[in-house]
Amino acid sequence: MYEIYCNLRDSRGVKDARVAEATGIGKSTFSDWKSGRSVPKQDKLKKIADYFGVPIEYFSNSDNGLITCKDCGLMYDSSYPNDVEEHRHQHEAWKRAVDKFGQLYCYYPECEKTKTENRKISQNTSLPLNQRLDAQIEIFKCLFSRSVMENNFDLNHVPFDVYVSMLLGNSTINQDLETDLKELLVQKYGTRTGISYGTVYHIPNMHENTVAAHKDGDNFTLEELEKIEEYKKLLIAARPKG
Ligand SMILES: [Zn+2]
Repeated sequence: MYEIYCNLRDSRGVKDARVAEATGIGKSTFSDWKSGRSVPKQDKLKKIADYFGVPIEYFSNSDNGLITCKDCGLMYDSSYPNDVEEHRHQHEAWKRAVDKFGQLYCYYPECEKTKTENRKISQNTSLPLNQRLDAQIEIFKCLFSRSVMENNFDLNHVPFDVYVSMLLGNSTINQDLETDLKELLVQKYGTRTGISYGTVYHIPNMHENTVAAHKDGDNFTLEELEKIEEYKKLLIAARPKG
């Protein structure tokens, strides 16, 4: 049982002291647990489980080799070679996506923590607007990360700036933004269609050579071609579904 805890703790990259601090459980509980003198009582075990975002039963299941990768966010069972292999693939895709899109928050607890902390700042109207803007951008980065992740780190996902303008163009998502902050965000990113519900962008099914300009690819510079691709995505994204 203690071993399961250790694996989980190490996979999340935290120390006992940090867990103790976050849960309010005395350090002696952890040393007693380690030495086998005693096992944390149910209420304490529940706090530890909550901290890691796992069910309390997690610690009593000795078959558990579950690990959550702090980078790509995939939870996998390290005792199954297939799972390990699947993680390797996802991790590579994650890495390519980070190279293209910049930092991604895929590790759920980190993402939730970042959102909660920044929401306190972005919603506090007594703080300077620029500080609130930065906090709101961090929140958007969390949502963006989730969106890229939901699309299996597909590199056809729109970049962050475009993604934000799509969120801002969706009245169901942006209605909880306070007016001043929203105005500033719209100034910075603009608005456009592309996300009609939720906060996940859906990559349209792109068929090759559907845009005439594509055929004359040789007549365009790389920069122009990139722009064409961008417009193509937006046009397709703006099309009504179904
Ligand atoms: Zn990974």
